[in-house]
Amino acid sequence: MDLSVFTAIESEVRSYIRAFPTVFATAKGQKLVDERGREYIDLFCGAGSLNYGHNDDDIKAAVIDYLAGDGIQHGLDMATSAKREFLERFRDRILEPRGLDYRVQFPGPTGANAVEAALKAARMATGRTGVVAFTHAYHGLSLGALAATANQWFRQAAGTTLNDVQFFPFDGYYGPDIDTVALLRTHLEDPSSGLDLPAAVIVETVQGEGGVNVASVEWLQALRELCTEFGIVLIADEIQIGIGRSGRYFSFERAGIVPDMVTLSKSISGYGFPMSLTLIKPEFDVWKPAMHTGTFRGNTIAFVGGSTAIEKFWADGEATEARIAERTAIVEERLGALVERYPDDLALRGLGLLQGLVGIRDNAVAGRVAKEAFERGVIIEVSGAHDEVLKVMPTIVGDDETLRAGLDIVEAAVDAVLAA
Ligand code: PLP
Repeated sequence: MDLSVFTAIESEVRSYIRAFPTVFATAKGQKLVDERGREYIDLFCGAGSLNYGHNDDDIKAAVIDYLAGDGIQHGLDMATSAKREFLERFRDRILEPRGLDYRVQFPGPTGANAVEAALKAARMATGRTGVVAFTHAYHGLSLGALAATANQWFRQAAGTTLNDVQFFPFDGYYGPDIDTVALLRTHLEDPSSGLDLPAAVIVETVQGEGGVNVASVEWLQALRELCTEFGIVLIADEIQIGIGRSGRYFSFERAGIVPDMVTLSKSISGYGFPMSLTLIKPEFDVWKPAMHTGTFRGNTIAFVGGSTAIEKFWADGEATEARIAERTAIVEERLGALVERYPDDLALRGLGLLQGLVGIRDNAVAGRVAKEAFERGVIIEVSGAHDEVLKVMPTIVGDDETLRAGLDIVEAAVDAVLAA
């Protein structure tokens, strides 16, 4: 496999090419194919940007039609028919059925763009600067988002000070007996705790990059209550766990809470096209015209993909959620069996189709399994502060036979690593 041009001229910052050292050429459904014709089952899904799988036929057809009809291609935020259709479908199929009243901001193509916009809007709306984020949080790597990202590996690259964010322990950080929302409450109620009243609290209901840490329903409800009581903007970062991965369209639905702002990205276009949204309750939509603008605020192909994905998978959202539950049961059963086989080495945690197999005795196990799995034809990533979690993230739809074949490979890889 010729990787020479990548190693010769691509920056040292390149990342996934190191974990998956081949040249991918095509993909369909749950599989990628490299230039040698070798197939890989995808248990990573473009870091969650391909929840519906690769190259869905209906989305592809809609995009090809749009291109063939010379649909608008620039990304300025003028009104386009593609954007209108996306907004109407998002309102009718996603927001209204859930009783959600959000304004939709198009903050730019990436997840970090959505986080930046949410943080700016929350600061403007409250007139305060501070933000509370959580241990092991990941919100992106542009400076505002990076300030709310906990991992030192990324923070050390900022090259400047990362200001106005204080980290508090996520649910379970000090073990099951310590209520960390109560801890935050203690700081907020004490005028001498040193914590200024923050503008916002930003939270992932399940921390993907941070090691598949799942916040409990009670914890999320208590956090919502606390933010309401103190007039703090609650931002749910749904960039990785949203769009079906948790089992529901939004992962906060399981807690019956409504965040003040929501960031969405990754699978929103349904086809891997860059796109993100910042959802803002009307009372916090304090933007003035063009105060946060840019060239790429309207990726029309992504709108066409996103509209088609919503119509295909969320017109009957209950059916999609039932499929996700079935696939989750398969993954939990297979990974649970591995934990039973290796109780001293592995633990399982997760929600829906974001599951983590945790190396409890040796942090390096997850990385060794991921490497072994790649050699056997599976794409899978690790996460966590010490890369100690094998993150299992299959497509949320698709045939179960392929999913099972992928899990067979994971099982064989685990056996190969742990039996050795
Ligand atoms: N927030 C969460 C929860 C994420 O998982 C990510 C990316 O993995 C981001 C924000 C940043 O998104 P992007 O990489 O598109 O900037």
